[in-house]
Amino acid sequence: MNKIQMVDLKGQYTQIKDVINASIQEVMETTAFINGPKVQEFQKNLEAYLGVKHVIPCANGTDALQIAMMGLGLKPGDEVITADFTFAATVEVIALLQLTPVLVDVNEDDFNINIEAIKKAITPKTKAIVPVHLFGQCANMEAVMEIAKAHNLYVIEDNAQAIGANYTYKNGKKVKAGTIGDVGATSFFPSKNLGCYGDGGAIFTNDDDLAHTLRGIVNHGMYERYHHDVVGVNSRLDSIQAAVLDAKLPHLDTYNKARQNAAKKYNLAFKDVKNIKTPKTVRNCDDICDICDCHVFHQYTLQLKGIDRDALVKHLGEKSIPCGVYYPIPLHKQKAYSDERYNEEDFAVTNKLAKEVISLPMHTELDNEQIDYITSTIINFING
Ligand SMILES: *Cc1c(COP(=O)(O)O)cnc(C)c1O
Repeated sequence: MNKIQMVDLKGQYTQIKDVINASIQEVMETTAFINGPKVQEFQKNLEAYLGVKHVIPCANGTDALQIAMMGLGLKPGDEVITADFTFAATVEVIALLQLTPVLVDVNEDDFNINIEAIKKAITPKTKAIVPVHLFGQCANMEAVMEIAKAHNLYVIEDNAQAIGANYTYKNGKKVKAGTIGDVGATSFFPSKNLGCYGDGGAIFTNDDDLAHTLRGIVNHGMYERYHHDVVGVNSRLDSIQAAVLDAKLPHLDTYNKARQNAAKKYNLAFKDVKNIKTPKTVRNCDDICDICDCHVFHQYTLQLKGIDRDALVKHLGEKSIPCGVYYPIPLHKQKAYSDERYNEEDFAVTNKLAKEVISLPMHTELDNEQIDYITSTIINFING
């Protein structure tokens, strides 16, 4: 059996090595390392794939979120509502821009922002909601957009973990994750579903004016060379990363399908294990589905009910099975983001998830033998 990895970047590279190398080589030959033709080519191809009018490439996913908030003109003191159970980048940029983060609880079934909690958190100062499409599936965007419309709020989708996922409306219409709100932000960090070989990110929008504003902000606030109309940042996707991404984009659906297949096998193996809750797909898609194109499994995350997680992690380590705990500490309990306004009882689900979740190896190269070994090792541990 091949050594099990949390994410197998080498195995994936080996499959399409010639295409990737040729794409990088093109950049080397042209020496257009910043904003070269590869960046524009990738931008166009991603726009077509997502069905969105504008993709603005940038340096990483954290910048993408920050630039989106700058582009919307959010001002110090504006309140921005986001999920308590996510990677810190989301709340980090809110705080960095001196906006006021308002963390709210998530749902136990899909790990995503809780709609009632958003409603409860709205004040006259609220200006935006940042739903995070955690672990590969969209938050309840129909409900989020409804609240936003009623209260005149911006919606910024943190789509770092769900690129390629569909969102299905109640009427059956499907759109790509990240293209529903005013603006979407994504990351091309190597381990993400569409990852480059360094840092990268992008912002999506269907709004022409906002797209124009964002294009200036990523490049020092310049709309005309050496004319700085607004305060911007330096956040560019370099051409070599774009070359990698452009070579990988045609494979994204196949990659996501491989993740879904792995998830399906995991689900089947754990189906009758009482103290394990497998991840649920909860949107309006094909009903039955615990697996469909609405979930692209950036992570495959179990909830352990009455199982000693530390002991399981240790046991898996001894059996050479890597695993991860995303995320062990709710954001409202982090030193940098704690606030006396918060009440513990408002974070019941996040507090519980932080203690119960465990993420198993999930990538495009997992084979049956590896999945059988992982699932049987866990089941044997539970059955003692
Ligand atoms: C990875 C990630 C980010 C940040 O992306 P970087 O490219 O690492 O800056 C933001 N939000 C979420 C939910 C992420 O998973």
